[in-house]
Amino acid sequence: MWNKIKWYIQKFMIGRNGRDELQVTVAYASLILYIFAPWFDKLLPVPFFRTICWIGIFYSLFRFCSKDVLRRREENRKFLQELEFLKLRHSVRKTHKIYRCKGCGRKIRVPRGKGKIEISCPLCGNKFIRRT
Ligand SMILES: [Zn+2]
Repeated sequence: MWNKIKWYIQKFMIGRNGRDELQVTVAYASLILYIFAPWFDKLLPVPFFRTICWIGIFYSLFRFCSKDVLRRREENRKFLQELEFLKLRHSVRKTHKIYRCKGCGRKIRVPRGKGKIEISCPLCGNKFIRRT
């Protein structure tokens, strides 16, 4: 009986995306939010947070079952990259600010407290103005 169920699941999962970091993160975030959603929704006229939870849960299931593995992998890669970016920004937050070049995507580190400055990308030469 259990072997048969296992076999069906295995057959179903062939060629599908399955677990990845983005899928797992969305699933957990949705479930955790779901615990608190009723309290937040009491403050609103519509069940906004519960709706967000359901969207998250369905998105996570969609990723899990998706057959477009290449596109899901690319999305997961971008998600991990974004996570790395946030980690890096957090680790240097007291002394530096990190911006991403809009031209080439390179991370640029600038010291804090210099006011508004023009930053030029060392890789592609793209210039932009930011407050540091
Ligand atoms: Zn650049």
